[in-house]
Amino acid sequence: SAKILDGKALAARLQTEMAEQVQTWIPQVGRPPGLAVLRVGEDPASAAYVRGKERACERVGMASFGQHFSAEAPPSQLLDTILRLNQDERVDGILVQLPLPPGWDPIPPLLAIEPDKDVDGLHPMNLGRLLRGEPGLQSCTPLGVMRLLQTEGIPLSGKQAVVVGRSILVGKPLSLMLLAADATVTLAHSRTPDLADVTRRADIVVMAVGKPNLLSADMVKPGAVVIDVGINRTLTPDGSSQLVGDVCYEEVKEVAAAITPVPGGVGPMTVTMLLHNTLESYRLRNRRGNGCSL
Ligand code: NAD
Repeated sequence: SAKILDGKALAARLQTEMAEQVQTWIPQVGRPPGLAVLRVGEDPASAAYVRGKERACERVGMASFGQHFSAEAPPSQLLDTILRLNQDERVDGILVQLPLPPGWDPIPPLLAIEPDKDVDGLHPMNLGRLLRGEPGLQSCTPLGVMRLLQTEGIPLSGKQAVVVGRSILVGKPLSLMLLAADATVTLAHSRTPDLADVTRRADIVVMAVGKPNLLSADMVKPGAVVIDVGINRTLTPDGSSQLVGDVCYEEVKEVAAAITPVPGGVGPMTVTMLLHNTLESYRLRNRRGNGCSL
């Protein structure tokens, strides 16, 4: 039976380390790291994610500059706020929680964020840096997957990695990160004709689709590592709601060498990498700014 890759435990460990670093840096810099999470409208899932991010932020001693806008507000209000936060010395990270409500174009706010404060790594400048293999802020979920793989000592160089799902948030950036780690990468998606044929070749399979039970045991090479990014809310037979990933967890864990659970796998790593990015931005800003040794 597979080794369970405990993202929740690793996230807790990393957050404890970050909290200690923050405490040693505050006296040197004269302020805590600051994160602004901007939310528009009343989507309950977005509200829950933002609450989770703000709570994590406080836990590690960072300051929160979050704001909430009504779905009826003019989009210029969001843009003006971003421009103000770009100039605000207390703010190291800015993110706009997606998806935005219907009628809101996510591109203008993403372009407005100063790339060095773009802790979600979605600005074209940061995506370009990732494509070119240059340092820059990188998308949190793929970064969390990479950190989990690296911490668990899972070799990537020369391995066959298959990423299922080609979103700009997860699949595409993750395939570039795996490529940078010298894996041979296949990026599969909804038009891939025979998904099982592709996933069966993989030493590492990452599912980032949003469809429960898409990856069954017969689609996995024995001994492969399976990373489940999917988050799906489903109903149990007794009618209560539960979170599941994209993987038939019970059967795949009998075939795989290692597997992430849902919940408790990639999810907690995502929030942790948001804190990590904010801390990186804070360090870089203060290293440049006043020559102190962060
Ligand atoms: P998305 O909807 O933007 O992209 C889904 C991708 O899956 C698309 O590229 C599509 O081509 C592909 N796809 C759809 N049906 C398919 C099929 N039958 N076979 C193969 N590929 C198929 O989604 P996203 O934003 O990338 O998110 C994917 C999943 O990951 C969702 O469940 C989301 O909730 C979850 N997610 C989790 C975290 C986390 O922190 N754990 C973060 C972001 C997203």
